[in-house]
Amino acid sequence: MSDQYTFANPVSLYHRGGFEAQPQEGPGLAAELGPKPDHGETSYRGTGRLTGRRALVTGADSGIGRAAAIAFAREGADVVLNFLPEERRDAEEVARLVEEAGRRAVLAPGDLTDEEFARGLVRTTVDELGGIDLIANVAGKQQHVEEIADLTSQQFEETLRTNLNALFWIVQEAVPHLPPGSTIVNTSSVQGYQPSPNLVDYATTKSGIIAMSQALAQQLAPRGIRVNVVAPGPVWTPLQVAGGQPDEAMADFGTSTPLGRAGQPAELAPAYVFLASPESSYVVGAVLSVNGGMPTP
Ligand code: NAD
Ligand code: MG
Repeated sequence: MSDQYTFANPVSLYHRGGFEAQPQEGPGLAAELGPKPDHGETSYRGTGRLTGRRALVTGADSGIGRAAAIAFAREGADVVLNFLPEERRDAEEVARLVEEAGRRAVLAPGDLTDEEFARGLVRTTVDELGGIDLIANVAGKQQHVEEIADLTSQQFEETLRTNLNALFWIVQEAVPHLPPGSTIVNTSSVQGYQPSPNLVDYATTKSGIIAMSQALAQQLAPRGIRVNVVAPGPVWTPLQVAGGQPDEAMADFGTSTPLGRAGQPAELAPAYVFLASPESSYVVGAVLSVNGGMPTP
């Protein structure tokens, strides 16, 4: 059976062309996307790169976070899965896959814009898994707004709280618990470098995540804690159809990348695993773009 190590043409590896408009309410569900995204369910093959690790993954129910959670488990990690309560259906599917990999899955539903809840995720991980040494901050809020006049203060603040404040709360809470060797992988975006006109609040946070991560990376490196960033390009996930893009943008979503297609969540997982694992021991404060070929600084 083919896995992520199978020699293949990246141009034709996955769905080419655009997608049908398929608006979803709320955070959206992977279960309702067509075509079905690939999160590595049948293809990701672990090789023991995260053996015995204790991981917290936010946004773990769907999209890139789901792909990371599946990969972490197949590489030997136990995983706390954070998601919003309305995404339980997606999250239970991930928990089943983690358990099928022989690892522990702990469901931790809740809203990251609630400071107490966000901080509490660290305690949950320590209590349930016996410690914490890997954090993948993948959760994110993206809602397109075409005109500055229509960008409400409420949305602006919620986007910042979800994408920036929660990251700060989780990392601050975790540092006293993180043993040397621990790794933090944060999630930016090509928007962090090439902001779209209709993603003012979101792009601001994705640029901010790079700055925050690079500042923290320098501060925490002497303690043996490495912080790095993954910067995805267009990836087929619920984020995009649940208000992330205008409906009409789905018709050519991802097609203007050099590879000519959107990425699949499974194609992001190896980046998270690499930055999480000891094999990247000298990689600190790096931003790993996984975007189908769009040039970045
Ligand atoms: P996704 O919708 O599958 O994942 C985002 C997750 O964020 C949701 O599943 C939800 O659980 C979580 N989330 C949102 N608000 C939350 C809140 N208040 N509290 C708790 N959890 C909350 O979409 P995805 O595309 O896999 O997104 C994952 C990350 O990748 C995000 O940070 C996003 O900005 C980033 N990203 C995605 C793309 C893309 O094209 N899909 C491109 C660049 C960056
Ligand atoms: Mg989701």
